[in-house]
Parts: sequence; structure tokens; C-alpha cells
Amino acid sequence: MSDNFNRSKISIVIPCYNEEGNVIILYQKIKESIPDKEVEFIFVDDNSNDNTLNILEDLSKKDANVKFVSFSRNFGHQNALRAGLEYSTGDCVISMDGDLQHPPELLQSLIDKWSEGYEIVYTVRKDVENVSKFKKVTASIFYNLINNLSDIEIKQGAADFRLLDKKIVRVLVDDITEYHLFYRGLISWIGYKQTFIEYIPHKRHSGTTKYSLSKMINFAIEGRTSFSIRPLKLAILMGFTISFLSAIYGLYAVGMALFTDETLQGWASVLVSILFRRY
Ligand code: UDP
Ligand code: MG
Repeated sequence: MSDNFNRSKISIVIPCYNEEGNVIILYQKIKESIPDKEVEFIFVDDNSNDNTLNILEDLSKKDANVKFVSFSRNFGHQNALRAGLEYSTGDCVISMDGDLQHPPELLQSLIDKWSEGYEIVYTVRKDVENVSKFKKVTASIFYNLINNLSDIEIKQGAADFRLLDKKIVRVLVDDITEYHLFYRGLISWIGYKQTFIEYIPHKRHSGTTKYSLSKMINFAIEGRTSFSIRPLKLAILMGFTISFLSAIYGLYAVGMALFTDETLQGWASVLVSILFRRY
């Protein structure tokens, strides 16, 4: 490994939403895993309503390498990642969850791949018993939908635990101004020299998952619609089909009213106005 890589600064971005039981232990574990590296910690508090922010404030007073960003409301995991990338100053940035599910023991392997010349090193989760059945099923539906219906391909189990060279960070921060962020898709789409390593997720150290079913569904829809116009085309096609069928039925109703005496008065006009009502 060259001297340049040994001297490099590693930024670690950690989105936190109610992770009071996890941040300190995660901080310690990261330090233990890469003891000889200069590490910049960037915790992003996504408007937690527990003690997370106070803990981060204290930590940043004790260690000058700890920085934190505090959100004014809950903007979600992906926006927290973006804020972290924006404030990072390292030669590479590693993003990881604040609940210790992404094993800090893997940090050195990510850095090793980077020092081999890869600009993006992402991770892929091996599905084991630490992941709930619900999570496995919803994740599998999510990846199948993305891969079948859009123009990008995301590996099943790809996680928001990844290393990005600072060059990629600049592109993501300066050039990508998407409001509905979906980094796993962006990373698959963006190109550059990529590789991945597999990991076995730990159990969440403390607290519960912050991804409710509705958050997950929203996330899936965003992931789907950000990378393909196919859903839009489908909606247009459905609109045309329904209009066409309505026109035929409308003509039939008018014809019946004009040329037969089998209809009640007003039936055709009411029907036609209902058929072409705009929603
Ligand atoms: N998170 C966040 N904002 C949210 C939801 C989650 O910053 O609105 C963070 C959370 O604190 C954790 C990471 O995103 O660090 C992943 O969330 P979680 O562990 O709840 O998701 P899961 O592992 O169940 O997919
Ligand atoms: Mg988690």
C-alpha cells in the first residue's frame, strides 16, 4: 500500500434517527477497527426525539474529529446521507448505519479495495437469520421491481454501507440535484471503477428499525420512478385506453338515445358526462 493511502483521511458518515443507545459504541468500534487512520466522523441527526443529539454534542466536544449535522425535521435517511457527504472533507467517505448493523470490522477491507484503485466500494448483504423475514421479503420485492422495470440493475442486498472516493463525492454533491434521492440506484447508474464486498449484517444493537412499512413503500416508489420513465408511459397508455373505451361506450349511448326508444330520458347525457369527467 502506498504512503499516500496510509496518510489519507477517512470520513465516516452516519445518519442517526433515535440511535441514543448506539452512537457511542459505534464510535468506539470504528476507532478500534481502524486505529492507525485519521478519521473524521460526521453524524447526521435526522431530528431524533431521543437523546441522540445531546450525545453527539458531548462527543464532538471531547473529540475534535467528531462533527455533527442537526436536521430541523425528519428528512429521511437518504437526505441525511447527502448532508453527510456535503460536509465531508476526507479523501474517501464511508457511509454506514448508526445501529451497528453494518460491521465496523469491515472498514479496513473497504479501504483496502480503495487503495487497490477502486473508486466505489459498495457492500452486499448476505441474507442470514439476523435479518427479519419481513425485511427479506420486502427487500426482494423491492429489488425485483427495480431491476425488472427500470434501466438500472442493483444487486440484491446492496446496502447504503459503501466507500466513495472524494471524486465521486464531489460529483454526487455538486452535480446531482435530485430531490428524491436514492443512492443505491445512483451508484449503480454513475459508473466509475466499482467493486463490492459481501457482509453478514449484525443485529441492530439497540432500538428498533426506523423504516416503517409506509416509509419502505415510499422509498420503493421513489427508487422505481427515479430511474425509468416506464411507469409514466404505462400511466399514459392506461389513460388512452380508458378514454378510448369511454368514447365507444359514449357513442353507443348517444346512438341508443337518438335512434331507439329503449332508453330513459336523460340517461345518455348523464352517462356521457360521467364517462368523460376529469378527475
Ligand atoms: N435513519 C434516518 N432517518 C430516518 C430513518 C432512518 O437517518 O428517517 C437512519 C437510522 O438511524 C439508521 C439508518 O438510517 O442509521 C438505517 O435505518 P434502520 O436501521 O432503521 O433501517 P433498517 O436497517 O431496518 O433497514
Ligand atoms: Mg438497521
